Amino acid sequence: MVETYKCKGCGAPIEFDGSHGELVCEYCGTHMSVSEMEQSGEKYDSQVEDDTVENDEKIDVDGYKCQSCGAELITDDKTTATVCSFCGSSAVIKGRLTGQTMPAKIVPFTVTKDKAQDIFKSWCKKGVFTPSMFKKSSFVESMSGIYVPFWLYDYDAGCHMEAHATKVRHHREGDYEVTHTDHFRVVREGDAEFRLIPADASEKMPDDVMDLLEPYNYTDLKDFQMPYLSGFLSEKYSYDSKQMAPRAERRVRDYIFRETRNTIGGYSSVNITGSSTRLRKKAAVYTLLPVWMITYRYKGENKILAINGQTGKQVGTLPRSKEKILAWFGGIFAGVFAILMMLGGFVG
Ligand SMILES: [Zn+2]
Ligand SMILES: [Zn+2]
Repeated sequence: MVETYKCKGCGAPIEFDGSHGELVCEYCGTHMSVSEMEQSGEKYDSQVEDDTVENDEKIDVDGYKCQSCGAELITDDKTTATVCSFCGSSAVIKGRLTGQTMPAKIVPFTVTKDKAQDIFKSWCKKGVFTPSMFKKSSFVESMSGIYVPFWLYDYDAGCHMEAHATKVRHHREGDYEVTHTDHFRVVREGDAEFRLIPADASEKMPDDVMDLLEPYNYTDLKDFQMPYLSGFLSEKYSYDSKQMAPRAERRVRDYIFRETRNTIGGYSSVNITGSSTRLRKKAAVYTLLPVWMITYRYKGENKILAINGQTGKQVGTLPRSKEKILAWFGGIFAGVFAILMMLGGFVG
């Protein structure tokens, strides 16, 4: 569950700042401890008006359930899954998944499997520390094309903001330096429409990988048809549109707050004294986005290499083989070690 807290100083969305160990407002600098925030309970969630109509069209589909990580993979009856796209396990069991919610929209794959393989291969060749496993064609062929479930939200939003601002002028009168300060009460009222704000509805797909794969171009958004899944897998969504809405709302509130704040300019100082944001959710559209991916285990960890199936953008980290790293940095370490020894000698 994503909660958006509200700054007690200026009303902006406020975030936990790990370096301070408390919540810090980036607009007015207010610090609030976690317990203080919890007690004041200033959140945005309850203020959102909801105009969305739930799409509850259900379909029965062929699918696979991974016995290893629990992923539920959906596909058409002509496509088979031999390994799980998320953990690489071959313990996938075929079944009939009944009553799945029908996706409403889809961005179809435009990067073909051949093209994706070429991208993986050239990427691996470039890597200075790439282990030999990446150079085997069988490994590259094990990649799967998967549609990741997303919610795309539409909002109408508004922001009311009040601020105290000053303009300061200096001039000389004989021997005196005179400072003249004008005070202003500034009021701003803004409205904006937000369309297709994405939030990843998959539990298995790491959020950071998905964030890096963005952006998708939504002008290619098509009405969902089952044949789009032919040859590809899709993950069943783990979070419904209500669960993911706070994440999209946070982006919308941040954006409209920032844009409203940016209209207040030309002053010596600006101090936001209060604000409120209004949100009306207009739509939440269940959408599938295309990703080519390979998962593998390296030093006991599951790793993912992924390619945006629409744009070809690549995300992921290649493992660096230890021997090559040591050879590479050996000279530097030796130099640093010598200097540290010398310093130690002086201090001791
Ligand atoms: Zn603030
Ligand atoms: Zn799995």
